[in-house]
Amino acid sequence: MTNLDAYWPEILDVVRQKVPQQTFNTWFLPLFPENSENGDLKVGCPNHFFMDWFSEHHLTALNEAGSVYFGKNTLFCLKVEEKKEQTNFLDKLNENTDPKPETQQDPVPDPKPNRPLNPGFNTAETSPSAQVIPTPSPVTPNNLNPDYNFQNFVVGSGTDLAFAAATAIANNPGSHFNPLFVHGGTGLGKTHLMQAIGNEIARQRPDRRICYVTAEHFMNDLIGSIRDNRTPEFKLKYRSMDVLLVDDVAFLAGKESTQEEFFHTFNALYDQKKQIVLTSDRSPKEIATLEERLRSRFEWGLITDIQAPNLETRIAILKRKIEVNHIYITDEVVSYIAENVTDNIRRLEGALIRLLAFASLTGREISLEMASEVLSSFFQGHSTGPVKIANVMEVVSETMDVTVDQLKSKRRTQDLARARQIAMNLAREMTGASLNQIGRAFGNRDHSTVSYACQKIQADMDKDPRFRGVVRNMMDKIRNQQ
Ligand code: ADP
Ligand code: MG
Repeated sequence: MTNLDAYWPEILDVVRQKVPQQTFNTWFLPLFPENSENGDLKVGCPNHFFMDWFSEHHLTALNEAGSVYFGKNTLFCLKVEEKKEQTNFLDKLNENTDPKPETQQDPVPDPKPNRPLNPGFNTAETSPSAQVIPTPSPVTPNNLNPDYNFQNFVVGSGTDLAFAAATAIANNPGSHFNPLFVHGGTGLGKTHLMQAIGNEIARQRPDRRICYVTAEHFMNDLIGSIRDNRTPEFKLKYRSMDVLLVDDVAFLAGKESTQEEFFHTFNALYDQKKQIVLTSDRSPKEIATLEERLRSRFEWGLITDIQAPNLETRIAILKRKIEVNHIYITDEVVSYIAENVTDNIRRLEGALIRLLAFASLTGREISLEMASEVLSSFFQGHSTGPVKIANVMEVVSETMDVTVDQLKSKRRTQDLARARQIAMNLAREMTGASLNQIGRAFGNRDHSTVSYACQKIQADMDKDPRFRGVVRNMMDKIRNQQ
């Protein structure tokens, strides 16, 4: 039996001498040694993405370090071991601070009926340093997350019209504002509001058939149905809904066959006065390569945007989350967070969860001093000048082992395409540049390519906490460069 555990810290020390610190933190710290019966040197990776990337880019460095350490040619083998307890504190923090995925696929029974709603974390006691246990929320059969309800939605000046329209629709589906089209930036509550409509209709009218899908899911469902000769079932399923909620419809841009099918679904539902709700990061006019007939239908009902919340609303959102979770955090800490995260509520929650996770893992009381210690790097870059696309490219190229020129090139190997998508997404999230500007910076690509890249990376981040951790480390690095 090989007890790799015992040698691992020293092998890592050898690696540490050879690779940049950032690479070491991102790619070597998350590995864990396995003990093996047959003498193999097995190393666990947190997921498949990580393993593929590591084996192509960093396995040689690990083998070389092993060879130096053992004094003979050494080959490690990799395997995916997702459940293993991590020893790296940063990892723990990242896992605990990840807001839950927007739609949770595997419902987990809720042990406490009055469990606090929404924020995706749960504290066992009322003390600020109580154990933080991220608890996935149960998901209803229609794919709705019950935490996304109207009670949990804090209304501010940027969301009052959208909220009023949403509640009107929930009380009287199909009779006003059809379709309702909600657009606005990432993390501002579009999915929450849309699902709140579904949850409220389900509460008031349990017999209604309600379906929440992302536009991407709709497309995949369509493709699957064509592949399996199930298109009649597909059509029937969507066309027999009483309420259809389609999230992120900008994804349909450029996907002609999906637009065609969606057009017919839309018409069938609309003609029967069934409620349709759509969200997007852009208004219908801004979604290029959307067929005119679909665009005009999106404009038939009410189009409303949601805007970033002001300081008072951000404080109110934080306070609501603190209240429902029975945690005590002083007003000055709340203000400190609200003042530093201005543009994205998901990030606001992320800051709070990060703080709670830190308090929980270290057993310390939450104070302003601790908040600034834990969150200053998280906030960095928000108070300084804008991030440039060049900074993003530089950090992505360092972390993912590609060159900046390759990111801008037309080459499309799998790794390069992946790195480019990550960079495009970070540019979109962090620089304030438009899709067109980002497309131009990455070798004159079309804005729909950038939009697709952003959605793909966001979806993968939602599904895979480790990947999210990798992307967030890059974000922190970009901010630190400012
Ligand atoms: P979007 O779909 O616009 O990207 P989400 O609906 O996923 O954003 O919102 C991101 C997170 O912020 C969710 O956890 C959501 O519950 C929370 N959130 C957004 N807006 C509000 C609000 N006005 N009040 C309370 N929580 C909110
Ligand atoms: Mg959303």
